[in-house]
Amino acid sequence: MKTFRMGGIHPKENKFSAGKKIRTAEIPKQVAIPLSHYVGSPSESVVKKGDMVKVGQMIGKANGFISANVHSSVSGKVNKIDVQLDASGYKRPAVFIDVEGDEWIETIDRSTDIKRECNLSKEEIIKKIQDAGIVGLGGATFPAHVKLSPPPGKKAEILIINAVECESYLTCDHQLMLEKGEEILVGVTIIMKALGVSKAVVGIENNKKDAIEHLTELAKSFTGIEVMPLKVRYPQGGEKQLIDAVIRRQVPSGRIPIEVGAVVQNVGTTYAIYEAVQKNKPMFERILTVTGKDAPNPGNYLVRLGVYLQNVVDQAGGVPAGTGKIVGGGPMMGRSLMNLSVPMAKGSAGVLFMKDEESVRKPIKNCIRCAKCVSVCPMGLEPYLLMTQSERNMWPEMEGNRVMDCIECGSCSYTCPSNRPLLDYIRFGKTTVGGIIRSRK
Ligand code: SF4
Ligand code: SF4
Repeated sequence: MKTFRMGGIHPKENKFSAGKKIRTAEIPKQVAIPLSHYVGSPSESVVKKGDMVKVGQMIGKANGFISANVHSSVSGKVNKIDVQLDASGYKRPAVFIDVEGDEWIETIDRSTDIKRECNLSKEEIIKKIQDAGIVGLGGATFPAHVKLSPPPGKKAEILIINAVECESYLTCDHQLMLEKGEEILVGVTIIMKALGVSKAVVGIENNKKDAIEHLTELAKSFTGIEVMPLKVRYPQGGEKQLIDAVIRRQVPSGRIPIEVGAVVQNVGTTYAIYEAVQKNKPMFERILTVTGKDAPNPGNYLVRLGVYLQNVVDQAGGVPAGTGKIVGGGPMMGRSLMNLSVPMAKGSAGVLFMKDEESVRKPIKNCIRCAKCVSVCPMGLEPYLLMTQSERNMWPEMEGNRVMDCIECGSCSYTCPSNRPLLDYIRFGKTTVGGIIRSRK
């Protein structure tokens, strides 16, 4: 069975919410919808205090090429446009709406019928995806329409659907595949049409056998779609790792997947594209996994954007006793949340409760030069060296040692027997070096 060839680890899976049916989270009395959900510029608000809005109505207009529209997830009255702390702890502009009813814009097709035919042209498909504010739901939140518009001279040969969900604990993509498999495959055909490719591979890790079987069966009635089981290995969800696993091509340092003829889209994004193109539904909700070893009710919730995570956690039984840390996302790449008063964003995939004893950092010891961090790095970096250089502010050296290639997977920190906080230092160095590179341009 295929997997990527360099580095990687296999953390304990702990998928407590696997197989839990998607439940629709209640809509609270007020939401704060961030105007910045994604990589790139925040959108510009097109509503003002006192305006009445409906579900699906545009409230933020994309501001630049790498930007995405934002739509209201509720109906009601705009209370204010203000700043709101996001999951990273930064203040971001947001539209605060007092909820009244649940009235959707008329253009959204709310029927559950599956619409397979799509007669739109490539340009019309991309325009619909752009209008609907679709961004990558796998974590990077890169506007989807940009990925579907390769730069001049570059041509996509294959579409790869990222359905590996390699982070421990998270199950939102897995459950989506079980419940919306056919819609996802229609989404795949739509993206294939937009890219002008005849082949697509849906890569799924082999710990989701039911999803592999389900999609393999469904794929028989579609042309050009292969479902490929992959060996379980973290971080297979990284674009470069997935491309290597599926087509054995390596994306060079500093380059993007289209350079080797591939375009990667997350499976949740693919479903959102189906909804946007076939149902005229903008992106205003997504699935969130709420989980943890002691979580009273681990599950997968369909949550409107802008809903405070506290509201969803309350519906899932609350924060368990003995929780030492709450993480937004999975345990490897997620970030600690200061509190749960942060709104659901397009990139929110999980809320993870970590027990007290799991949250405490172990004592940091000296590097014993075991090279375990080097052997697990999927990007071929030398994490022990990058950490030392970051401690000593050696920015040119870090750049020379390709710190910008680090995908922040955390495999190095996870594996270090001396408990060295490798990723913390590398991330700090990467941010600094990234700023230096940008200031040169
Ligand atoms: S894994 Fe830890 S102890 Fe081993 S070389 Fe890397 S930093 Fe040093
Ligand atoms: S966090 Fe960066 S340096 Fe560490 S293993 Fe992942 S890619 Fe390599």
